[in-house]
Amino acid sequence: MFGVDSCRPLFLFPVFNASLVKYHLRLTPAIFSPPIIAFKLRSSLDRPVIRNRFVLFSYSRWSAMSSSSASGVSSAIPTPKNADEFEAVRRSRILSSKLYLDVPPSKAPIIYSSSYDISFLGIEKLHPFDSSKWGHICQFLNADKILEKNQIVEPLEPTRDDLLVVHSESYLDSLKSSVNVSMIVEVPPVAVLPNFLVQKKVLQPFRKQVGGTVLSAKLAKERGWAINVGGGFHHCSAQKGGGFCAYADISICIQFAFVALNISRVMIIDLDAHQGNGHEIDFANDRRVYVLDMYNPDIYPHDLEAKRYIDHKVEVKSRTETDAYLTKLDEALEVAKREINPDLIVYNAGTDILEGDPLGYLKVTPKGVVERDEKVFRFARKMGAPILMLTSGGYMKSNARVIADSIMNLKNKMLIDIPSSASI
Ligand SMILES: [Zn+2]
Repeated sequence: MFGVDSCRPLFLFPVFNASLVKYHLRLTPAIFSPPIIAFKLRSSLDRPVIRNRFVLFSYSRWSAMSSSSASGVSSAIPTPKNADEFEAVRRSRILSSKLYLDVPPSKAPIIYSSSYDISFLGIEKLHPFDSSKWGHICQFLNADKILEKNQIVEPLEPTRDDLLVVHSESYLDSLKSSVNVSMIVEVPPVAVLPNFLVQKKVLQPFRKQVGGTVLSAKLAKERGWAINVGGGFHHCSAQKGGGFCAYADISICIQFAFVALNISRVMIIDLDAHQGNGHEIDFANDRRVYVLDMYNPDIYPHDLEAKRYIDHKVEVKSRTETDAYLTKLDEALEVAKREINPDLIVYNAGTDILEGDPLGYLKVTPKGVVERDEKVFRFARKMGAPILMLTSGGYMKSNARVIADSIMNLKNKMLIDIPSSASI
């Protein structure tokens, strides 16, 4: 997601608009699966039963997708034949993964790699769109003496087996087509690039950010908090990318946390301006995950099916201003607090709620965004739950400054603790 949000490339490359619409009309049915039918259990069924149903459900979706794949299962791990084997394979992939690095205490739980930033075709030089937002955030933190470069944690890039913890073989294979990737990232010129270039310049930066999101859960568990300076691809689900999101980093991160961190209840607080339909679909049938989603219903993705799986839905209409937005957030957190006692909070902190954002259509001031993040971190502190933050959508030139200011505010309010550079 160097857009995380649909439409961005439409205004970046208006000359290609007509052809993009044709791509969608002609290719979408052939590439993506039929609508997934699911329901979120809300009964008093006990947890093992619910988990078993979720595994069965995940397996049946995976199986349906994989049967059309010509490539078979990668690596030495055998193809699962039933739901139990599917879960065993998932566990095995997670437990043999290298993504959970050991991070020394001298480092801050702030994760970033220069590979996050996307620069090709001159995209980085084009008007308001900031495809190097992630690097700019770190530059500001460094210039403001909040964070030394050597305090930043560099994540690993996930392997195919890591991605298969959530995605199907056929979905990952579909990314070998530049046309498919161009539709997901909604940058039509990507369709005509050789796929090796698309892998290197588009998908690899995304994958590195996925590695950062996965690692952030481990660091949050160890330190109480963590920030992945990228990630938050909340439109991508296990079987379908879109809205500039090619990998379901939130779903992968949570599956890792279930297996390797002894986490059993997760709260997703999604405050990006757009509905987080990817993780909502992925955890549709899983009561271990509670979703609070506050989004503008007037904009992409209008995913009616995914809406049914939001546990607490707060719709903020276009042109909502700061005070009204923050009041709704207070009310929502109050409701969420009563409904689940999480042992991990995943905070998707998109800044496309900012006034002037060409996609979010909300009118929250920079100070309002800083206050929003503070409220969520205070909430996590009050709940006694580790929190990880992802930066998600919002790509105006001004966003990086606002995010850096917010991190500085969290530090000043002692909601996060960054070791001083002198102690390194
Ligand atoms: Zn967004």
